[in-house]
Amino acid sequence: MIRFDILTLFPGMFRSPFEESLLRRARERGLIEVRILDVRDFTADRHKVADDYPFGGGKGMVLKPEPLARAIAAARAEDPAVRVILLSPQGAHFDQAAAERLAGCGHLLLVCGHYEGVDERIRMHYVDEELSIGDYVLTGGELPAMVVVDAVSRLVPGVLGCEASREDSFTGGVLAPPQYTRPRMFEGQAVPAVLLSGNHEAITRYRRREALRVTWERRPDLLGRACLSVEDQALLEEIRLAGNGQGPGRGPAADRGAESWT
Ligand code: SAM
Repeated sequence: MIRFDILTLFPGMFRSPFEESLLRRARERGLIEVRILDVRDFTADRHKVADDYPFGGGKGMVLKPEPLARAIAAARAEDPAVRVILLSPQGAHFDQAAAERLAGCGHLLLVCGHYEGVDERIRMHYVDEELSIGDYVLTGGELPAMVVVDAVSRLVPGVLGCEASREDSFTGGVLAPPQYTRPRMFEGQAVPAVLLSGNHEAITRYRRREALRVTWERRPDLLGRACLSVEDQALLEEIRLAGNGQGPGRGPAADRGAESWT
């Protein structure tokens, strides 16, 4: 069970994302808990002002430090073990390894900035870490918070209802193999025969080879850091030879580190 508290100026944005599909079921089954905290509830003035103009000029507003500080202090008073995370384009990249690490925490407080961001003193003295979901700037931390909740939740035992995540992309450092479903023939394209063979050993080997192949083609940069067994190395050699000496990196993200796996 993991608890997510999300501190935001826009609680309404979270109305539906956790009301659908797997996350809804996970909440209903008590595997995850999501609480939305409105920054304005931690203001002390009549008008519930939570943002203000930046010192030194400039357009846009900045989230004031006092309400954020109060909200974070209240969360820490309730649970000293809570991990406070500021969503920020300047943070460390949120990746599968970070999701796995955070899935081991019992309680996260996700602080969403908005407009021009949050007062720097909050970043310096109130948060445990800063996370970015990518090198682009969004209007607020609400979508990044949803991304973090989703990626972390599906790693909580029981949330997926099966062990599908073992073959997920980035687990063990490689991409997931391609998947097929019915019909067996679609627009002249057949499902690979081995998947219909019922031979589990052959299917496992085929899937692993496919996972390595798509990684080699699309994200060769991952292979240098992946946990590869001797069998994996042999499969990669097979893939390399089947590639007719064209080298890795023929997929859309091919330019990333192709040279590390030639
Ligand atoms: N002025 C800031 C800068 O240039 O670094 C950008 C502020 S952004 C418009 C407003 C808020 O959106 C941020 O405080 C952060 O919470 C969130 N945000 C925007 N892009 C993000 C990203 N890539 N990852 C995580 N949070 C992001």
